[in-house]
This record gives sequence, structure tokens and C-alpha cells, in this order.
Amino acid sequence: MTVKRQLSMVLDLNKCIGCHTCSAACKLMWTNRNGREFMYWNNVESQPGKGYPRDYENMGGGFDAEGALRLGRQPSQEDYGIPWEYNYEDALMTGTDPWLRPNVKPTWGANWDEDEGEGDYPNSYYFYLPRLCNHCANPACLAACTRNAIYKRQEDGIVLVDQERCRGYRYCVNACPYKKIYFNEQISKSEKCIFCYPRIEKGLPTACAQQCVGRIRWIGYRDDEEGPIHKLVEKYKVALPLHAEWGTQPNVFYVPPLSPPKFGENGEQLAESRIPLSYLESLFGPRTGEVLDTLQAARQAKAHGEGSELMDILIGYKHAEMFKLS
Ligand code: SF4
Ligand code: SF4
Ligand code: SF4
Repeated sequence: MTVKRQLSMVLDLNKCIGCHTCSAACKLMWTNRNGREFMYWNNVESQPGKGYPRDYENMGGGFDAEGALRLGRQPSQEDYGIPWEYNYEDALMTGTDPWLRPNVKPTWGANWDEDEGEGDYPNSYYFYLPRLCNHCANPACLAACTRNAIYKRQEDGIVLVDQERCRGYRYCVNACPYKKIYFNEQISKSEKCIFCYPRIEKGLPTACAQQCVGRIRWIGYRDDEEGPIHKLVEKYKVALPLHAEWGTQPNVFYVPPLSPPKFGENGEQLAESRIPLSYLESLFGPRTGEVLDTLQAARQAKAHGEGSELMDILIGYKHAEMFKLS
């Protein structure tokens, strides 16, 4: 789809500390009420892991190699996790059952497998992967909607659901391979991340980016050659889309994580990364190794006192300079 301009986000996974402040900011602003309680328009997963909703990577959707739309499956409520509330009074004052609804003992939820990762000590590993709607250039949710209720804004490429047109058929939920569009049973309509467009229209960054403790998120327009998005995606080519093979052309990009070396049997450091490159390539594609080499070289240059525009951008000295919204 062609739009006049495309707003984008880059997230540096080397800086994410898994604090979930971004998810809390989004939830407080948009999804803590009115049937949205189970939704995390922004969530932070520990990878390797099952993600949110559980096993979303195996639910299908997106486009095949010929460009044909694939309708995947919908997550169940259990795949998202049924929200629960704590009975603070009993839990804190008497130490008894902490669940407000003890018959709904949860078995899964966002972050259920937090920090589990993979591998055995001392070579265990994990990293954090924050996820939100990619505001794709070729959105599968939009392609699947038989009501033409989903549209991309011309001025910034934000993908939105026209709530007047939506009839709750949920083809969009099936079709989005990232499972970042949700069905609200209370109002029988689909809802999703709106890239905080009311804030964007006021020149403010999204809530998840504004509140990000690790300063891992940049926001800007793809065509702004002086902006951080263009420099990270196009100039230095260190930011990659998640699962590009799903064919939706995401506008959220990730700087993949470097990792410490593995240890051998006698505690010696091996010339092998603890996070297997093959695993990172399964997420971010075949250029991942090249990106990690570029990052490593830029880090070394900076450590030796040489100038590195790339490292200066990635460090993000001034939070306000990470957002270029005009
Ligand atoms: S991530 Fe999913 S919901 Fe968001 S625009 Fe792409 S296909 Fe649509
Ligand atoms: S851009 Fe706004 S709506 Fe989207 S995940 Fe971030 S805080 Fe939530
Ligand atoms: S607020 Fe930032 S650092 Fe914290 S989990 Fe979210 S993306 Fe990561």
C-alpha cells in the first residue's frame, strides 16, 4: 500500500531490561478497561519462549511466497491468559488465597515464561523482545477484512480499525501473523495498537516509547534522511524486521542482541556466541550476522576513542532526540 509518509519505530534489543514499563504505560492509557483487559497492545517477551499469545509464531497468517493471503488461526482466551485480580485484603492481611477468583486459577498469561530462555548453566541465555503492531506496509489484517474497516492513514501510515464499519468477523485476527489485533467480546469489534495517534498528532512520542526506561525506542519517518529511523534502517542497516518472511512488510524494526561468549567445560571462553546465530536468524533473517558484526565493530571503535555516529545514535544521549515527529 502506498502512503504519503510512514511513521516507524526502531527498538534496540541490546538495551531492553525487561522492566515492562512500556506495557504498563500502554495498558494504563488504552487497555485496562471495557473488555480490553486481556489485551497487551505492547508486550515484552523473553526469547526463546512461547510469546504472547502463547505460540503465536505457529498460528499462521500473513502472505505466502506468491503473495496470497493466509488465514491463520485465532488464539483462544487461554492463549492470551485470562486476566485475574488479586484479593489484596486476604492475601496481605491473612496470607490466604491471593486470587479474587480462585476457580479461575491461571495457567498462562503474558510473561508466564519470563526469563526462562534456553540452555543450561553456564550457557543459558535469553533476551527481551518487546512487541507491538508493526503498522505494516502490506497489512494482512487489512487485506483480510471483508468490511474495509481497516485502513492505513495517508499522512503517517498508522493502521487503524474504523469502529463504525467493524462487524467483528475476526478475519483480521486470523490473518495477522503477529497476533497484534484483538477481538473485544464486550463490544464485538476488533481493536489494536493505534500508535498513540492522538499523541503523535500533538507532536508527542507514543506512550510506550516516552516511558521506556532503557531508551531503546526511536520514532520517526522512513523518508527523513536526517532522522534516526532512516539512519538505523537504511544508512547503517542495523535494524531488521521481525519475521519478514511473513510478507506484511513491518514498520517496526529491531537491532538484534549481541551476546557474551559461551564457556567451555573448564570455564574457558569459547569463540562462540551464547545466543545461537541460527536462532536470531530465525527471527530477524539472514542479514543478522552481518548486523552483529557491524555493531561489534562500532562498539570497538567507540571504546578506542574513535568517533561513531552509529554508536552515538544507539546510546541515545538525549531521550528527546530519539523522536523526530515532523
Ligand atoms: S502487525 Fe498485524 S495488526 Fe499490525 S498492521 Fe501488521 S498485520 Fe495488521
Ligand atoms: S504505540 Fe501506543 S497504543 Fe501502540 S503499543 Fe505503544 S503505547 Fe500502546
Ligand atoms: S520500557 Fe523499554 S526497557 Fe523496559 S521493557 Fe519496555 S522496551 Fe524494554
